[in-house]
Amino acid sequence: MDLPEVDVAIVGAGFAGLTAARDLGEAGRTVCVLEARDRIGGRTWYRTDLFDGIGLEMGGTWIVPEQAFVSAEVRRYGIAVADSELPHRMTWSDQGKVLESLMPVPPAELGDLEHAVRALVAAGARLDVDRPLSEQDLVDLDVPIRQWARDAGLRGNARELLISWFCGCGNASAETGSALDILRWLAAMGNSVWGMVRASVLGQTFVDGTASLATALAEDGGAEIRLSTPVRSVRQEADRVVVGHDGGAVAARRVLVTVPIGVLRHVDFQPALSPAKLAVSTENHAGQGQKVWAIARNVPHDLSGYGWGTAFDYVGAMGTRPDGVLLVCFAPEHDRVDGTDRVAVQCAVREFAPDAEVVATATHQWVDDEWSRGTWTTFRAGQISRYEKDLGAREGRVHFAGAHTARRWPGFIDGAIDSGRRAAAELLEVL
Ligand SMILES: Cc1cc2nc3c(=O)[nH]c(=O)nc-3n(C[C@H](O)[C@H](O)[C@H](O)COP(=O)(O)OP(=O)(O)OC[C@H]3O[C@@H](n4cnc5c(N)ncnc54)[C@H](O)[C@@H]3O)c2cc1C
Repeated sequence: MDLPEVDVAIVGAGFAGLTAARDLGEAGRTVCVLEARDRIGGRTWYRTDLFDGIGLEMGGTWIVPEQAFVSAEVRRYGIAVADSELPHRMTWSDQGKVLESLMPVPPAELGDLEHAVRALVAAGARLDVDRPLSEQDLVDLDVPIRQWARDAGLRGNARELLISWFCGCGNASAETGSALDILRWLAAMGNSVWGMVRASVLGQTFVDGTASLATALAEDGGAEIRLSTPVRSVRQEADRVVVGHDGGAVAARRVLVTVPIGVLRHVDFQPALSPAKLAVSTENHAGQGQKVWAIARNVPHDLSGYGWGTAFDYVGAMGTRPDGVLLVCFAPEHDRVDGTDRVAVQCAVREFAPDAEVVATATHQWVDDEWSRGTWTTFRAGQISRYEKDLGAREGRVHFAGAHTARRWPGFIDGAIDSGRRAAAELLEVL
């Protein structure tokens, strides 16, 4: 087949693909990015067409200054970010019953809370996030969140709160998500529990949406980006790779694949993907929950609610509007609450604010979306130990990136950028 050839074809225009394209373009390489969706940004999606034009992040939202890769890009392009406002108080919901107390546990259980915090910090201190976790004798932590809580001897409400918080961080259930992957958040924030809270929903947000950074990356480096171009096959030949997509094909000296873990196995690789990549893709990761936006009346304007035994594990106010308070809500499993159903969302919000009247909801079903098949990467128990080293390993002329291949922040925008930079450097070395 006589095809025009580029140096690198990149599959996916999320932050990993866009960053790699920028670096390769800057180094003078010809790059063609093939993206299945009709937009760039992947699992970040800033929408201004819902809720009367307020900007809503349907996916990735918060960053923290400790995330070196995304912070460097924010500075480089002069992207505006804003600090989150601290809530004035916390709301705790125990199985849907709002606690009146300042603390999430009754006074008799304060010792349990202290024990939980100590156990958390002791476990976090064992991780060196700059080295592969699978090399560090941590298999006893690479277990389901609930099992870790049991093994660590957590008790009472402190135990339930910690389990729910971990599930919230992972957007994963207590039976599937790896405790080790969540402990990585703590370790990456210098083993600070407060740092881990900031890294979840109290960091910085993009004033003009994550799209502002994605666009800056896309416009830099000069790569060609083809939207609405799903890649179906990646075939390695003797001295090139042919990438087959709907409506055609592209030939390249090298290919960089950045699709999410669960999507990998739906691309036809020849030769076949390594058994490890195929296995982890078939298992998929545990980030299978949802994020829901709502506008609600009769809720505190500064609601910041953590719950256990509740449909949402977190409900937080993100601003006040004439028609109500803007809430962001997370559930660790996508079928716990139907995020498109106003009444179902209202029931779930009432577990935190009993008089809430939800007037509108908005969500994107990332789990059912064929180009993501999940939300953010949280490894299943055992996956870090089994597959960590395989995820980013190149196979012949095909290289791999994506947040899930990053070391420090695999569930984040930062991890995606980190992986794109690493892959571009790897490609420049061999081209
Ligand atoms: C609900 C939600 C909330 C989140 N919250 C945060 C947060 O607050 N902070 C944070 O830092 N991170 C957050 N994340 C995670 C963050 O968004 C991701 O880690 C990051 O955006 C992943 O980037 P990526 O480039 O690795 O993958 P993706 O963004 O998934 O990019 C991969 C691209 O490949 C494309 N693709 C897939 N298959 C094909 C194919 N066959 N052919 C061509 N293209 C294909 C996809 O359409 C996509 O554009 C969140 C994610 C979600 C879903």
